[in-house]
Amino acid sequence: MSPAILDDIRAYRPLFWINPLLEPYQTVRSDIPVGSGEIETARARMARWAPQLANLFPDAFDSDSDEPGTIESPLVDLARIPAVLAERYGRTPGSDPGRILLKLDSHLPVSGSIKARGGFHEVLALTERIAEHDADTIFSFTGQLPGAGQMITVGSTGNLGLSIGILGAALGFSVTVHMSRDARRWKKELLRSRGVVVIEHGGDFGAAVAAGRADAAGNPRCHFVDDERSTDLFVGYAVAGRPLRRQLEARGIEVDADHPLCVYLPCGVGGGPGGVTFGLKEEFGDNVHCYFVEPTHAPAMLVGLVTERYDRISVQDLGLDNRTVADGLAVGRPSGLVAPALRRIVSGIFTVEDEELLTLVALLSDHEGYRLEPSAVAGLPGPFQLLRETDVPENAVHVIWATGGNMVPDDEIAEWIRAGHEMIR
Ligand SMILES: *Cc1c(COP(=O)(O)O)cnc(C)c1O
Repeated sequence: MSPAILDDIRAYRPLFWINPLLEPYQTVRSDIPVGSGEIETARARMARWAPQLANLFPDAFDSDSDEPGTIESPLVDLARIPAVLAERYGRTPGSDPGRILLKLDSHLPVSGSIKARGGFHEVLALTERIAEHDADTIFSFTGQLPGAGQMITVGSTGNLGLSIGILGAALGFSVTVHMSRDARRWKKELLRSRGVVVIEHGGDFGAAVAAGRADAAGNPRCHFVDDERSTDLFVGYAVAGRPLRRQLEARGIEVDADHPLCVYLPCGVGGGPGGVTFGLKEEFGDNVHCYFVEPTHAPAMLVGLVTERYDRISVQDLGLDNRTVADGLAVGRPSGLVAPALRRIVSGIFTVEDEELLTLVALLSDHEGYRLEPSAVAGLPGPFQLLRETDVPENAVHVIWATGGNMVPDDEIAEWIRAGHEMIR
């Protein structure tokens, strides 16, 4: 453990940490407690359910799309903001970050965040387990829904609750979402309008998860979605790897040792970024470099990894307050499943101040027209950080994972943009 970095963390100083324990993927892939076969199973499950999802949520999918019901997101080029960011973060002479793309998980169908990947997969896997004895009913939807008489509980800072709640309720489950103090009101209202029970807690994410776990304990008809431990969630996120490869190929973008792929993933408890990292490593091996991004007030994964105490330490243990405008990342303790699994696989972690996140929300809206939530823009400084801190080659391709925001009401986004403009001035 390095005390200097802990001093910086304690002082809420933004920092860039390069993982000293990074190893070639093939030598450490067994650190991950699930294998490529599980990704394949999850991919097949999502494909099997696509027609049902298209039926359940007709407004969420392009009816003229080839594959309605597919939970996938666009990959877009960033045209104007890279020059603005290069200016902002100080261009190193003679260097250019190269091509920068944005992966719009903010626009994933039905629940508008990266949680649609893991959350939907978890609910569908559960539905199939319940219906195992009665496989005919599952896709017929005649008579009662497959989740009827069954319960789901989950603890969330907002987006996981949205994802589990919307799909769970649509499949007939009685869903209870325990929301941490960070959750936005519109998410609670939307869920209640779908018949989901929302319980509001004054505590943080960890407290909301504990409440959900206690709620489900001992009830065989109640499934607890464990954001700190679930492999169904984790593998659902990992499905993202193959489609990204296809999207890059479709643009003629090669990924190899001379053209590395650098990916920047906002991190809360770690399931989303960890699962996506697993999926990408399975596709690209050592040619992909995955960096996680956390708010300076909630660097849960960073603290867990640098101390190697994983889920046995929280940011509060270091005196941090776990208060951030990035509600999706407001997590004090990393996943006990993901933190040790990714210890030798994640390339590094950097932290970003809340003021910077708001500024980035404003800049992205001004220059590219995408309206994202603060958690979702955290990766934007990544390519410039890498230029400064590492010897990343100029022909690298950078993908910034934009994790949420498309369903946020206009007035909330406008408020963040206004606050961001204040910071720029
Ligand atoms: C949940 C979330 C993340 C991070 O995912 P974790 O699994 O908590 O690490 C990032 N961005 C947004 C918008 C989220 O909702």
